[in-house]
Amino acid sequence: MNSSTTTSGLTFDIQPSAQRKTPQERAALLESPGFGNVFTDHMVTIRYSEDKGWYDARLEPYGPIPLDPATAALHYAQEIFEGLKAYRHPDGSIACFRPEANAARLNRSARRMAMPELPEELFTGAIETLLEHDGDWVPTKADNSLYLRPFMFATDVGLGVNHPSRNYLFILIASPSGSYFSGGVKPVTVWLSEDYTRAAPGGTGEAKFAGNYAASFLAQAQAVEKGCDQVVWLDAVEHRWVEEMGGMNLCFVFGSGENARILTPGLTGTLLPGITRDSLLKLAPELGIPAEEGRISTEQWREAAASGELTEVFACGTAAVITPVAHVKGSQGEFQIGDGTPGPVTMLLRDELVGLQYGHRSDSHGWVRRLG
Ligand SMILES: *Cc1c(COP(=O)(O)O)cnc(C)c1O
Repeated sequence: MNSSTTTSGLTFDIQPSAQRKTPQERAALLESPGFGNVFTDHMVTIRYSEDKGWYDARLEPYGPIPLDPATAALHYAQEIFEGLKAYRHPDGSIACFRPEANAARLNRSARRMAMPELPEELFTGAIETLLEHDGDWVPTKADNSLYLRPFMFATDVGLGVNHPSRNYLFILIASPSGSYFSGGVKPVTVWLSEDYTRAAPGGTGEAKFAGNYAASFLAQAQAVEKGCDQVVWLDAVEHRWVEEMGGMNLCFVFGSGENARILTPGLTGTLLPGITRDSLLKLAPELGIPAEEGRISTEQWREAAASGELTEVFACGTAAVITPVAHVKGSQGEFQIGDGTPGPVTMLLRDELVGLQYGHRSDSHGWVRRLG
């Protein structure tokens, strides 16, 4: 049996799949992978128990995981996840974008959910191990990437609810992906959700916690019913302050040309602290676009769009990168941002970010990590 050791002393046992896809099968799957439907040959698993800590790290064939019906995560939803991508660079190498930020966020989510933290070198070690064996699955096509999904859940067997689980399973799977929203940079229409709340102060909104998504699907379905692509979440108390767009953060562009500036809702504890959001807050000023965190209400949004002061709005996140928001609908009617087409600031920031991720721009921040 092969193995490789991480700096934390834990060894990844390598159990290669006997049923790897052939290069022809892989090429056919990479032709048009969609998002999150195709998976690579392997996965990485690491177990945790209260007495042993993290143990039994391995690379094994991708496949079903048998679970006892009384597994804690299935009943009480102790489950967190991350999302990042591996990109093919022009020289053929593979890189990730700020993976240590994902490792840190996983651990912040873990603390909120009373779960154990995973040492950063095990997080990046898992990615390295998977890419070492499944690196051929990182697409070479423009705008495509290998989406990495690390997740962790409670594996105690039993229905007692008086304490968090004492055992956990961390898994890393990978999925070659095309554009998240089919059709490239297509502006979306959003629905301002006043009937439902994503997160409340003191709740779980800041954690990348699976239950936040379960609680959002009905509002997302309502948005679709209203003819919209995505839901925009408002604060839990007044249903007035803009928070985020289920799965992506929001940025507002005021003014244009040399006077353009960006505002994104501040991290009040109910928003998910996106790594894309954080990166843009640093990149925009370097491109001459001041960027600040603050508050914006739905009335301000509507009024600034009507007066022309607000010129662009976009959503940002790992999966869909940067997506322009063109139309807004809510109980008070609907309005348009600018002329409804992707704006220059939106496209400039998108090109800059994508350029860094795919290795077409030089990385002065130390954000790009060679992992393959
Ligand atoms: C993951 C996520 C984001 C975006 O975070 P990135 O690190 O930029 O991908 C935004 N909102 C929610 C609810 C999320 O789960």
